[in-house]
Amino acid sequence: MEKVNVVIVGAGAVGLSIAAELSRVRKDIVVVERNPSFGQETSSRNSEVIHAGIYYPKDSLKSKTCLEGKVLLYEFCARNDIPYKRTGKLIIAINKSEMKDLEKLYLHGRENGVSGLTLISKAEVKKIEPGIKAEAAIYSPSTGILDTHSFMKRLASSFEKNNGQIAYNSEVAGIAKTDSGYEVTVTDSQKESFTLNSNIVINCAGLNSDKVAAFIGLKKPEYRLKYCKGDYFRLARSKEAGIKHLVYPVPKEDRGGLGIHLTLDLAGSIRLGPDDEYVKEIDYKIDPSKAKLFYESVKTFLPFIKLEDIAPDTSGVRPKLQGEGEGFRDFIIRHEEESGFPGFINLIGIESPGLTASLSIAKMVSGIIKSGGIM
Ligand SMILES: Cc1cc2nc3c(=O)[nH]c(=O)nc-3n(C[C@H](O)[C@H](O)[C@H](O)COP(=O)(O)OP(=O)(O)OC[C@H]3O[C@@H](n4cnc5c(N)ncnc54)[C@H](O)[C@@H]3O)c2cc1C
Repeated sequence: MEKVNVVIVGAGAVGLSIAAELSRVRKDIVVVERNPSFGQETSSRNSEVIHAGIYYPKDSLKSKTCLEGKVLLYEFCARNDIPYKRTGKLIIAINKSEMKDLEKLYLHGRENGVSGLTLISKAEVKKIEPGIKAEAAIYSPSTGILDTHSFMKRLASSFEKNNGQIAYNSEVAGIAKTDSGYEVTVTDSQKESFTLNSNIVINCAGLNSDKVAAFIGLKKPEYRLKYCKGDYFRLARSKEAGIKHLVYPVPKEDRGGLGIHLTLDLAGSIRLGPDDEYVKEIDYKIDPSKAKLFYESVKTFLPFIKLEDIAPDTSGVRPKLQGEGEGFRDFIIRHEEESGFPGFINLIGIESPGLTASLSIAKMVSGIIKSGGIM
């Protein structure tokens, strides 16, 4: 049995951010990842957008970590040569009936402390994005995109340079509390098991994080995840449209996502999506017949799009705490000391804006460890 200081379950953007942060000042940290490489689940199946922090309730963890994470992420990308672009984003009212919701969202974003937001007129939208049809828009200059793979690669290499270890092809299959910490049972790709004895366990298992919490008996109903799938379609010849900003409709309340929108990748190609569909099982296949639905959703504000130009791309699954039609649920980032598990930190429901927030979440977890005196 190997004795270590910290076990981090999951090498997604969040687990790796925490690993890189902790390894700057602490030793004997192991990240356990069931896949052959890092970031093969939700962290590589998203829009790669650096969110500004407009939508979330003020003072929620989603809002705070997004606002701080955005700043940290831009700095990190600039310092480490990670490809990124401050594209800016337009949230548009398609017609007059959406103006009230647009104005409400604008005021909410400002109240959240998002810098640089402006409400712009139909004529101004036409000027900066001639291809878009809108009554008015919120312009968010601090929204951008990044190369998520390069970001995670850099986090993994920083962690390994600080003598951190990543065990790939290794699945955490059980966790038991001991007098001094936790016994973590890991199964490797040969189906052989080994045990890590750790003072601290940090559960960053994404879509599986409720099940990992249940290993130590934390089967709380409030921790149960629901899966909400988001499909993307790619637009052929997208550069011809000349779009420079990300373009989102005003979100409808109680949806699983932000509404089918237009994002750009770093090469300037356009993707539409993600949509939102609650599912029981994880299956990343996309039904090509959904193209019609995507087309119908965006044709009013993206009139240049033709049905025959859109084709299935990738999909991702959101680890959501709220079920369909339910109200807002915040990230759970919790030291489980009060439940009788000192040194066990749960991160559950880390859906969007989890990528943007990842470096801020890492700082927060490091703070919990420091202030809790658990290491
Ligand atoms: C469709 C979609 C679009 C999104 N768009 C954005 C966006 O534009 N901007 C943004 O900020 N956020 C976005 N998000 C959210 C963002 O992608 C996630 O919040 C973030 O990637 C979560 O990272 P993570 O490390 O928590 O989870 P993951 O990336 O899922 O990592 C968890 C890891 O844990 C591993 N694991 C699970 N169980 C075990 C186990 N028992 N043993 C070992 N390993 C295990 C998994 O293999 C996985 O690698 C989007 C999400 C979706 C689904």
